[in-house]
Amino acid sequence: MRCNNCGNEFAGGVNFCPICGAPLSSSAEPKLSLLVALVGVAVSILALFLPFLKVSIFIASETMSLMDGNLRNDGLILIAVLVGGVLLILTGKNSKGIRNFVVGGIVCLIGLVDLFNNKSKLSDGSFITVSAGIGFYLLMLGGIAIIASGVLRLKNK
Ligand SMILES: [Zn+2]
Repeated sequence: MRCNNCGNEFAGGVNFCPICGAPLSSSAEPKLSLLVALVGVAVSILALFLPFLKVSIFIASETMSLMDGNLRNDGLILIAVLVGGVLLILTGKNSKGIRNFVVGGIVCLIGLVDLFNNKSKLSDGSFITVSAGIGFYLLMLGGIAIIASGVLRLKNK
């Protein structure tokens, strides 16, 4: 394996670099957690501008992103939650705060599914159909990535 601090190669199975003494496991995990969180946020923000719902009436169909019209408030709340949660994961010194965020993130994902379910009640099974767009799936993925980064961070405590 290779030391992240001094770059020297050596045999694995140790917790500290034998050359410079840097702790090995705890220097790698925050970087992984940071990367996972950044990917999660990037995917989520991109997803806000992609079609969240597709509403079809007869042969006409229209897509809505979370930044459109009456979905915009949900989109803005989601951005605030994302930014707050990532700040907590990246700067959090206390594992209780991070744990609360991970639970909050899971609740948020359930909320997302619920929001979609509410909108899909417009669907009457014949003339009007409501289906999930790529933005919905990407938001789920982004949310899972952010929760995973919190879990990685907690494992490191
Ligand atoms: Zn080293």
